Amino acid sequence: MNSLSASNGIGMTSARTRERLVQKLREQGIRNPAVLEQIRNVPRHLFVDEALATRAYENTALPIGLGQTISQPFIVARMTEALFEDAEPRKVLEIGTGCGYQTAVLAPLVKFLYSVERIKALQDRAKQVLSSLNLRNIYFRHGDGFRGWAGHAPYDAIICAAAPTEVPMALLKQLSPGGRLIIPIGPEGRQELIRITRRVDARGEEFVTQRLGLVAFVPLVQGVR
Ligand code: SAH
Repeated sequence: MNSLSASNGIGMTSARTRERLVQKLREQGIRNPAVLEQIRNVPRHLFVDEALATRAYENTALPIGLGQTISQPFIVARMTEALFEDAEPRKVLEIGTGCGYQTAVLAPLVKFLYSVERIKALQDRAKQVLSSLNLRNIYFRHGDGFRGWAGHAPYDAIICAAAPTEVPMALLKQLSPGGRLIIPIGPEGRQELIRITRRVDARGEEFVTQRLGLVAFVPLVQGVR
């Protein structure tokens, strides 16, 4: 096999494996075509260690170093779908950049994406991969996501990739009227994904909570490193 057909071979395999992943997510109930298209397009293998690249299109979480994981594609798709259900958020805050995979899935679907991560080494690596993909509407902050990112608030939506035991007040405060927060809540082993919508009318504001199912996330940890 010459080098051209070898690289074509790899390309075809990866197109097929990506399509299998998309099919699996459809079977698990993901419906939003733009979200499925992003799962098909984003090269997930670039976000994991080369040694794990062959497993990049499996529907599983994988280690990304420093005790953290790249989220399972189903969860990324589910959270992204929940963000866009009956809404078109343009300005979005992400807590927990990690390797940047969720960031890459989300960025082309919004106008501005702000992303906060507490581990600098992870965010630096994510920045490199994301800029190699030419995604230019992402703004990064090394900081503690418990505090959100007040400087750019309010946000049409906030998506949190790590689980606190209680909803951080700062995140609720940084939602625009009608804005929504998608976040896993609970101790390790007993977490639920929820969506909280901030409703504002003449009588005042209320926060409406919807439950989106049981999940497993790493904990949201205070402070930076
Ligand atoms: N979004 C990533 C998932 C990363 S895992 C992906 O697509 O794969 C969760 C990330 O949240 C980890 O990188 C972890 O370091 C980060 N994290 C945990 N607590 C945090 C906090 N208080 N502020 C910001 N990031 C936090």
